[in-house]
Parts: sequence; C-alpha cells; structure tokens
Amino acid sequence: MIIHMVEGASEEQADRVIDRIVNDYGLQCQTMVGAGSIVIGVKGMAGIVDEGRVTELPGVDRVIRITEKYKDASRSFHHEDTIINVNGTLVGGSNLTIFGGPCAIESEQQAVDSSVMARDAGVDILRAFVDKSRTSPYDYRGLEIARGLEIVKVMKEATGLPVVCELIDLRHLDAFLEAGIDVVQIGARSAQYSPLLEELSRIRTPVVLKHGFGNDLNEWLCAAAYIMSGIDRSGKNTGAGNPNVILCYRGIRSFESETRFAADISMIPLVRGKSHLPLIADPSHSSGDRALVERVSYGFVAAGANGLEFDIHSNPEEALCDGRQAVREEAGRIVSRSRAIHALLAEGSESGIPAAVSK
Ligand code: PEP
Ligand code: MN
Repeated sequence: MIIHMVEGASEEQADRVIDRIVNDYGLQCQTMVGAGSIVIGVKGMAGIVDEGRVTELPGVDRVIRITEKYKDASRSFHHEDTIINVNGTLVGGSNLTIFGGPCAIESEQQAVDSSVMARDAGVDILRAFVDKSRTSPYDYRGLEIARGLEIVKVMKEATGLPVVCELIDLRHLDAFLEAGIDVVQIGARSAQYSPLLEELSRIRTPVVLKHGFGNDLNEWLCAAAYIMSGIDRSGKNTGAGNPNVILCYRGIRSFESETRFAADISMIPLVRGKSHLPLIADPSHSSGDRALVERVSYGFVAAGANGLEFDIHSNPEEALCDGRQAVREEAGRIVSRSRAIHALLAEGSESGIPAAVSK
C-alpha cells in the first residue's frame, strides 16, 4: 500500500498517518519525499489496513494498493533505483558493475592467477566460489569449505577486490561472513528455496539473486521479496529484511540445445521497469560458450543491465568446472567495451530505464 499525502502536507500530518498504521495494525512504514509531496509506503501485509481509516486523516490525498505479490522489490513501492554499496563499490543506478572470476576455486594457484587476470581486466567484484551446485554428483563440486575460504582470503589479498560467493548450504553462512565474503550469491538452483532466502533477510550483506531457469518474472521478484520483506508467517514485520538485493538474469530453459540457456534480452528493460533493484546479467551461464560471451555481454549492457557477471579463468582448457564458457584475455576488452556502450547509452538518460516501462 502506498499513501500519497497532498502537496504541501506537513510532516506532522504524515506522522499521524504513520502512527495509525504502526499502532493499529503493527505494520511498518517507509517515507519517501518526492517533488513537494510525501509518499508513505506500508511494509508487511497491508491488506489488513482499512483504507477508510487512512483516507479520513488530514493531509491524505489517496491510497494505492500494490497488486504485485513482490511488493518490496517492486518499483511501484520504491520509485528510485536502489544503489547498493559493496564495501565502497556501487551497484545499481547509473553504475556499471562487473562481477567476474573463475566459476569455481580449484586450487590456490588457479584461483590467484584467475583473480589477478580478472582484476587486470577491470573487474569490480571477484567471483570466489567455494561451493558449487552441480547437476551431476560426479562433477567437480568445490574444495572442502574451510580450505576454499582460506583461498578466498588469499584472492582478496592478491587483488584488493570485494568477492561474491555462492551459498548453497545455510550451515556455511556464518563461516562465509567470518571469512569476509562481501556478497552472497543464491544460484539458479536454489532461487526459490525460501528457508535460504528468509535467512538472508536477517543479515545486511548484499545478495546476488539469480533467476531460476524455470521461473517467471513474478516468481523471481517474489524470491527477492523474501529476502527484503522480513515479514513473519503472521504477516507482521519483524524489523528484519535485507534491502541489499542484486538481481542476476542468466537465461531460462528452452528447446534450443546449442546454447546452454535462452537469454531473453527483453527481460532486461522489463525487469528494470518492474523493480528498483540493481539488475546484472550473466553471459557465461546463459550462452555456455566463450565464443558467445563477448557479444552477449554487449547485448545485456545495451539493453540496460546495471552490470555483468561472467566466468574468467587463467587456463580454461584445464578448468574443472565450466571452462568452455570462461574467457581469458578477452575479459579486458569485454569490460572496457561494455563500459563504453554503457556510457554512450547513458547520455541523456539518468537511470537507463526505457521510457516505455518506467513508472
Ligand atoms: C554460477 O554462477 O556459478 C552458477 C552456477 O550459475 P547459475 O546458478 O545461474 O546456474
Ligand atoms: Mn559455472
């Protein structure tokens, strides 16, 4: 629910509205001050609020019910682009943020060589994946967690970059945070696993949420809302809720077998219009082929993505995981040309959201 105050309404009038929502219904509010008018967003299960008891208060202009099931992630609820600060590196808004590095940590040498290559290419946030969710149990699934996290520390020291690491098992979260993981990633296979998403609502560490390869837009953004809302089963706001969610598009399952997944480029401007969250895209896990990664990256950036995440490996031919889709020296060109495309298309448009879907 969004409550628009009339133009010139006082802060006291807005406070009265907030008091009613908080005291009568146990919900929380978020105030946004726009051009001359105050807008109050009601967090939690706002369906219980009696609209008449709000509109009767002085200074209230109108009440709008948000119909999307993914309210906290919706642009109707939060109009401005969300910008997330990853220990000094910004994601979202007018920034183009590049996540890259090896698909998985295989050894200290491979991890450091690939990380330095990624840093030299101009990557902002390093992929440092200790745990891999693989389709087949016979494929490489990562080192033992404690050893992998030791190598993450070495990767951070060698590059000075923040790192993103996929979380598959809730039991590893504390160890991840202690090891200085800057961004937690939820992979496509776990993208709708609500216990994992709910647990991430209790921390403030930024989360990259992949698009499940069988999910539609509503399911994806509802998964984001699980991390963001912090509402419990009774619909009450617990005060938790992690606003730092970065969406990552990675393509969906289709009948085409010559690409790994099908990337629908129109999802980029569409999702940017529907959600205020930063949206990055993964050209490696969608195309599955290094020969395609470069051009697909440019397509995502031109379509309005706030960043990319792709695989970079110092020796892809020998990689234990996804070597076929990892780039090597081309990484530097992909980063610099992506930045040039982004800068070119950003001219004259503040947020990069196409007018047709802007709210
Ligand atoms: C990954 O990013 O390493 C990965 C496994 O991707 P996805 O979850 O999109 O399959
Ligand atoms: Mn991979």
